[in-house]
Amino acid sequence: METNCLFCKIIAGEIPADKLYEDDEILAFRDIAPQAPVHFLVIPKKHIKGPAAVTSEDDKLIGKIMRIGNELAAKEGIDQYRVVFNNGEQAGQSVFHIHMHILGGRSMQWPPG
Ligand code: 5GP
Ligand code: ZN
Repeated sequence: METNCLFCKIIAGEIPADKLYEDDEILAFRDIAPQAPVHFLVIPKKHIKGPAAVTSEDDKLIGKIMRIGNELAAKEGIDQYRVVFNNGEQAGQSVFHIHMHILGGRSMQWPPG
């Protein structure tokens, strides 16, 4: 738990979220400002500030985030979706607790802006 981290506060239950999945290591919840008909975030409960802060200790955890995201996408009825991890402000990261976005339910452009 990192004080002043929004997602650590959601994990701690201090800030409510529309949760889709939770276990001892991972939490998934809907994005508060959805950018697609389906848009949710999958996060580790461990505070890791972003993709560049991942270490070999996290190999299994990051793989599990991918698997849970895929399973939740299927539950949400999407089999085509975009997976996004933003690293750093310039890339669009605004919450410095690593999170995997899953977005789907509409067609998308590539490359992103
Ligand atoms: P980033 O821009 O860091 O990649 O993504 C952060 C995401 O968190 C954004 O899509 C934003 O809408 C979402 N977000 C920010 N604050 C909250 C919140 O309090 N609750 C939820 N559910 N999502 C949030
Ligand atoms: Zn955190």
